[in-house]
Amino acid sequence: MKTQHIINVSGGKDSTACYLLALKKGIDFRAVFADTGNEHEYTYEFLEYLPKVTGGPVVEIVRADFSKQIRKKRETVRDKWKKDGVPKAQIKRALELLQPTGNPFLDMCLWKGRFPSTKARFCTEELKVFPLTFQVFFPALKNGRVLSWQGVRAEESRSRSELPFWNKDDTGVYIWRPLLRWSAEQVFDLHRQMGVEPNKLYKLGFSRVGCMPCIMARKLDIRNMAMRFPEHVKRLREWEELVSKTSKRGQSTFFPSKKISSKNNEPAHIDEIAYWSKTDRGGSQFNLWSSTEELPACASIYGLCE
Ligand code: SF4
Repeated sequence: MKTQHIINVSGGKDSTACYLLALKKGIDFRAVFADTGNEHEYTYEFLEYLPKVTGGPVVEIVRADFSKQIRKKRETVRDKWKKDGVPKAQIKRALELLQPTGNPFLDMCLWKGRFPSTKARFCTEELKVFPLTFQVFFPALKNGRVLSWQGVRAEESRSRSELPFWNKDDTGVYIWRPLLRWSAEQVFDLHRQMGVEPNKLYKLGFSRVGCMPCIMARKLDIRNMAMRFPEHVKRLREWEELVSKTSKRGQSTFFPSKKISSKNNEPAHIDEIAYWSKTDRGGSQFNLWSSTEELPACASIYGLCE
């Protein structure tokens, strides 16, 4: 039985290295990307560029769809919120705004009435695991054995260092981690060997490529986003407003307030987080240098600017 090789490409360096490694080994494979809807435009650009520059397979895009869940939530708002003492005006406003937008990340938050967090990290499952499992792996399993390549590396974290090179998961898919013992340098070397420019976000100083931003983004990455891409801060401001107006609590922020030291424990909106990202000393001192400096055109933390 022929094994079906499937590579989950995120637009980041490690999954790209898996794609390049498979090409180098002459393996026939499919490349898939779970679009969260919270991606940077450079990532979409990269996913189109990769097959063009290598002659490899086009990256297939899958997306979660939460229209059914939002429809069900509308029923809950209409039938239950009043009993729970939610003011009439708030119910009316939520019903007016609670509609699927077609953006998976935003629709997931509208359905849940909140943004994900490190403690409630439902985003990975809802936006990546489920769409890939139901739209890619289950249909593929009907045709035989599936080997899913994962671009994880041991040096990224302790939990990753404990992963095996391969295992079979509960769905029956075999997971293969060919980069487990690779360094970031080896990953970028393979890009160079194959004539592939990494996602532009690396040269702009981002440590990771994934959601823009990830709910677990480091202060430096938030600062980088706030200074280079204020349009993404604007988008998050609009998302916070919409999710707040359609949530029962009437309040929801992209990042948890504890990211910054909030005096009255008020939720910290994205503009406050963006401001905090430019501060030093745990947020107590505004860093004038980082707020006025001209960002370098190339600022890679992986030495890609030489
Ligand atoms: S990259 Fe971050 S925000 Fe995006 S799905 Fe993964 S954990 Fe969630």
